[in-house]
Amino acid sequence: MFSIGLTGGIGSGKSKVADWLAEWGASVVDTDRIAHALTAPGGGAVAPLRTAFGAAAIGPDGALDRGWMRERAFADPAARQQLESVLHPLIDRAVRDEAGQARGRYLVFVVPLLVESAGKWRDRVDRICVVDCDPETQMRRVQARSGLTHDTIERIMSAQASREDRLAVADDVIVNDDATGLETLRRRVFRLHQAWSDHASGLADGRTTHG
Ligand code: ADP
Repeated sequence: MFSIGLTGGIGSGKSKVADWLAEWGASVVDTDRIAHALTAPGGGAVAPLRTAFGAAAIGPDGALDRGWMRERAFADPAARQQLESVLHPLIDRAVRDEAGQARGRYLVFVVPLLVESAGKWRDRVDRICVVDCDPETQMRRVQARSGLTHDTIERIMSAQASREDRLAVADDVIVNDDATGLETLRRRVFRLHQAWSDHASGLADGRTTHG
């Protein structure tokens, strides 16, 4: 199935873009949503995370304490690695399961850390699409959306790939800066959706048409 890796920094607008693509008939596999589900109460990662990090890692509601885990992972690279070694195989399995069941016109993987994944995702998808946005706008959007502090958002952003690194691997770019209204964004995304749908049909027919 024709597949797109959709990425972008925190607050760039990935989720918004993915919601529209799903509405228009793409199958969307969102790795962030999968990670959240795995670490929610009753999620498959909760017990192994408790074993790895102790009871302090799990909140009274039975979910991973994300604030606690974020502090540990920032402070200690070994803890970050351990977190990844628990989460990544579980995420991978869920991603494969969902992708295997996809029946949409094409497949979109939403992967916040696609560029950081050292080639793994780049080999898995046909095209990489970057939602591009300046850091000031990212900061403003994330502050408006979440209760995270300015410092925490800045740390998250500096741990992510730079805007330049992302653009360097992009096959398609969706500009979603401060000047982009939601209607304009929707139009930009729709044009890409049409191009990808055409491409997906061409692949399904085993032929391409030029001119
Ligand atoms: P990401 O998934 O990349 O972290 P989101 O799609 O959640 O980003 O977008 C972050 C916030 O900014 C959301 O509340 C979203 O509705 C808003 N947003 C994104 N793009 C625009 C835009 N062009 N105009 C206004 N608000 C936007």
